Amino acid sequence: MIIILKPEIGPESEEFKKIREYLSRFEGIRLHVAQYEGVTRKVIEIHLIGDTQRVPLEEVQALPGVERAIRVSAKYRRIGRHGTLEPFGFEYQGLRFDQDSFHIFAGLCAVDSRENAEAIFKALSEAGIVTARMGAYKPRTSPYDFQGLGKECLPWLFELAGKYGIRVIAMEVLAPHHIEEIHEALEQTGHPTGVMLQIGTRNAQNFELLRAVGSQTEFPVLYKRGMGLSLEESLNACEYIASEGNHRIVFCLRGVRTHLGDPHRNLVDFGHVPVVKRLTRLPVCVDPSHPIGSRAEAPDGIRDIYHVAAQGVIAGANMVLVEFHPRPEAALCDGPQALYLEELPRFLEHMRIAREAYLAMKKLAEKYRGKV
Ligand code: PEP
Ligand code: MN
Repeated sequence: MIIILKPEIGPESEEFKKIREYLSRFEGIRLHVAQYEGVTRKVIEIHLIGDTQRVPLEEVQALPGVERAIRVSAKYRRIGRHGTLEPFGFEYQGLRFDQDSFHIFAGLCAVDSRENAEAIFKALSEAGIVTARMGAYKPRTSPYDFQGLGKECLPWLFELAGKYGIRVIAMEVLAPHHIEEIHEALEQTGHPTGVMLQIGTRNAQNFELLRAVGSQTEFPVLYKRGMGLSLEESLNACEYIASEGNHRIVFCLRGVRTHLGDPHRNLVDFGHVPVVKRLTRLPVCVDPSHPIGSRAEAPDGIRDIYHVAAQGVIAGANMVLVEFHPRPEAALCDGPQALYLEELPRFLEHMRIAREAYLAMKKLAEKYRGKV
């Protein structure tokens, strides 16, 4: 059961104390208080964990200070919308992330040199983009492949990002100590930028790592769906992050592993954008680079990566995570799918068209809301 408090009821209020008192009579039920930024206001909820069947809904709903109470059936209780709950939203580094916002995180799959990172930041800044992707720690299929520059590159990378006005970098972490290394490098350099911790598809069910990014609140988290997991399994894994207290999560679709997707690297699952927005309270990201795996171009002159990115955006995605490289032929990781840096303005223009089409569709839907 989730109890949503009235907007004027704070955690120190008399009403809050009374609600706690009332709930304490039900043995074996734990309470968790969740506070977050809703779309229109700050929301405080009390989550009841345990056998809540014995707690009478009508009685709870009638308690002073309670706006409403709902029973939840999905296991992903905190990230779930459960039919009617408001989406989560959060501010980070002066940017808003929620189910209405839209950001493009473009950049290197793996940071390989200072020059390449700088070229990306410069191009983004010229295009008016303040969000980037940069991998310092890379999960590779073979231990002999380039593993990323690791913590050594972080200080200069963050300084360069700050120099070009980049406010957030999406960066994958493979182990809890990477979070500490990122924190230390930001401290050392005076926080010139921010970081969104990325959980890669290979770690989608690494529960200890999920708990680690969930139990800190300094950084928001970009959770990538497991490539071999059902959506339900990925949502439950993502819940580990929220269950530790961090609600600042973006859920990312990045394709699923099946040979039915050939010749693409993975089968595109962006049809799930509206599904995840309906089932959860999280903003949704799409990654068009990893499902496609190449710069192949369709006969219409549009690359497959542009096509699927636009499909995700027109489906309502709130974020696009995409790989670029100044010299893809020389990239040490995922070169075949990296877009040429020169085409960044062209890519952004395609995304603008897709986003406008989505907003026009949304406006039309609002006109017909409530009608058949
Ligand atoms: C990445 O975004 O760099 C990455 C490794 O993606 P994924 O975890 O989706 O394969
Ligand atoms: Mn990659």
